[in-house]
Amino acid sequence: MNELRIALVGFGKIAQTRHVPAMVVTPGVTLAAIADPKAVLADVQQFASLEDLLRNGPEIDAVALCTPPQVRTAQAYIALTAGKHVLLEKPPGATVSEIAPLLPLARNAGKTLFATWHSRFAPAVEPARALLAARKISQVTITWKEDVKVWHPGQAWIWQPGGFGVFDPGINALSILTRLLPPPVFVTRADLDFPVNCAAPIAVELDMADATGLPIKAVFDFRQTGPQTWDIRFETDHGPLVLSSGGARLNDGEMPVVDATKEEYPQLYRRFAELAAQGESDVDLAPLQLVADAFLLGRRRIVEAFED
Ligand code: NAP
Repeated sequence: MNELRIALVGFGKIAQTRHVPAMVVTPGVTLAAIADPKAVLADVQQFASLEDLLRNGPEIDAVALCTPPQVRTAQAYIALTAGKHVLLEKPPGATVSEIAPLLPLARNAGKTLFATWHSRFAPAVEPARALLAARKISQVTITWKEDVKVWHPGQAWIWQPGGFGVFDPGINALSILTRLLPPPVFVTRADLDFPVNCAAPIAVELDMADATGLPIKAVFDFRQTGPQTWDIRFETDHGPLVLSSGGARLNDGEMPVVDATKEEYPQLYRRFAELAAQGESDVDLAPLQLVADAFLLGRRRIVEAFED
């Protein structure tokens, strides 16, 4: 496999804390440059924009787009047109339909479009999938509550149109859910709490179901102080199965099955390198579709202003 020379576009929190360390430990992958209006990294060439990088930068094979969702699809279009493989951070875009034109572009160029869902690579997700495949599930409860001031300080884009608000972490839970349950899963009710000064919700309650009528309830809340919760609980005919810590832990009743460190991004880069070697794409929009449907169906409530 040839070395995949990758540029990181959008060098903010996730690029710095997860993408760079993952690239360092992934064989066959090299960080060739970064494109960000301000952020820099020692010993790596920096460009103010993707366009500047493509015009004046070193030879690259791929870009990893870690920009806010509102600008990502236009960048994917530019990168694919320039003949680069593209990794999209989650969520893949700000809308569902904007992704469709990228697929023929990638296919015709023989390039990869990889819409990543990092939480699907959490260590307990596949073990949970294997256990659930042999059980009858009677109810699913998702509790995804975190303190936005701790995890997203100063990220104004998250509160703007297309920024997703609490769906930014909540979509991680939906990415796990849609990996664990056979499709389709769909939204049947949504309550969305919008701070009076924000264009995206700070808290969400969702009812979902599958084709058999399985009740699935989700609560996402950005106002959680104290202990943080990223849990999915399945009631099954063999007792409860609980995926916690965002997919790092799995308990079968009282028995711990998985208790691991979350090493999602190295796996994600291994997958990207494999896909690029084959010129194949991997794009699953099911989690994004659920968020879009929640916005379509949801009842909006205005709540107190959010001050960062
Ligand atoms: P962030 O810290 O705000 O980083 C985004 C970076 O992109 C900033 O440095 C920003 O620069 C830069 N940028 C904005 N527009 C750009 C453009 N047109 N070209 C190049 N760079 C541009 O956000 P983040 O937390 O890393 O999140 C980025 C994406 O990763 C989001 O979709 C998020 O859902 C996803 N993600 C985040 C986390 C997490 O825990 N933070 C986890 C997993 C996935 P300025 O600040 O100067 O605008």
